[in-house]
Amino acid sequence: METQGVNLGSPSKQATVSKVRVVVRVRPFLPQEITARNGDSMSCAFLLDHQDNDSSDEVSVHLKYPNTSRSECYRLDSFFSQEDDNVRRIFYREVNSLIPGIFHGFNATVFAYGATGSGKTYTMQGTEEHPGPMPLAMSTILSICQTTGCIAEISYYEVYNDRCYDLLELKSEEISILDDKDGRAHLRGLSRVPINSISEFHQVFSCGIQRRKVAHTGINDVSSRSHGVLVIAVSSPCDEGSGPVLMGKLNLIDLAGNEDNRRTCNEGIRLQESAKINQSLFALSNVIYALNNKLPRIPYRESKLTRILQDSLGGTSHALMVACLNPGEYQESWR
Ligand code: ADP
Ligand code: MG
Repeated sequence: METQGVNLGSPSKQATVSKVRVVVRVRPFLPQEITARNGDSMSCAFLLDHQDNDSSDEVSVHLKYPNTSRSECYRLDSFFSQEDDNVRRIFYREVNSLIPGIFHGFNATVFAYGATGSGKTYTMQGTEEHPGPMPLAMSTILSICQTTGCIAEISYYEVYNDRCYDLLELKSEEISILDDKDGRAHLRGLSRVPINSISEFHQVFSCGIQRRKVAHTGINDVSSRSHGVLVIAVSSPCDEGSGPVLMGKLNLIDLAGNEDNRRTCNEGIRLQESAKINQSLFALSNVIYALNNKLPRIPYRESKLTRILQDSLGGTSHALMVACLNPGEYQESWR
């Protein structure tokens, strides 16, 4: 799927061999948006194939540009419409099944991708009333830990302007990436906080959320300018004489919003930030495109984010891209 020159999947004409599942989630209209549209709540994205929504088969999604006759159709792995309590459904249908693998040595990654305001943060975090994949995954992992004696730890960092910062522990410097002798990237000094209960998780995680950099743009009052990565790592129980051994990890990522600078009126530092954001999203989509199209070379090294995620994207790792859509603004994020 093309978004600002970014390739996430294949238009329906081409066969899709998905290694990274790509699903679309359309957020509901907000009350003020419905008012501004004189009560019109027709979404620009809808399912074309009339299939049982609970099947995990591919679906055809029709995306329509508002106020024009232009439209496009894509084949995707699944579609979550604005009518669903779709954050919960995304967890139970797409994310929950990745968790057992974490306890068997496999890594997994879930991304929320889309324009600013398309619902990425809501899709990953949810609210207190409607928790999203981040707290729901933590809660599932904690209950498996309770029965197996495994240990769960979290890290939370952001990649901002292609630099990596710890969000759980204030550090004066950015976190540097070091390659080990096997070429695996490590984040030096990134803190890992043991979590024993969901209330502990909320406490630690909400401190991190406060630290995540936000700034003002012309489009949205407060928009996320960084990629926020929550890592839930699981280690085996300590044996006598040996410490815990890392089994697997789940990366839950709220990507920075991709932006069209002609619309946001960005200037100076904002424009520079935006270029970095779009550059790293482009690098990520190229990695996904290469994986899904079985290209011989996967361009992991072209951005900090893809370098860091190399051990959790492709290979034996499972990955899911949740492409978030604003129901009235398709042209902004998808082109
Ligand atoms: P992004 O992180 O992509 O910039 P947000 O997650 O902040 O977007 O969502 C934009 C707005 O839409 C927020 O006000 C958010 O509360 C609202 N929103 C998103 N999804 C839902 C939903 N399922 N129900 C109600 N409001 C939602
Ligand atoms: Mg956000």
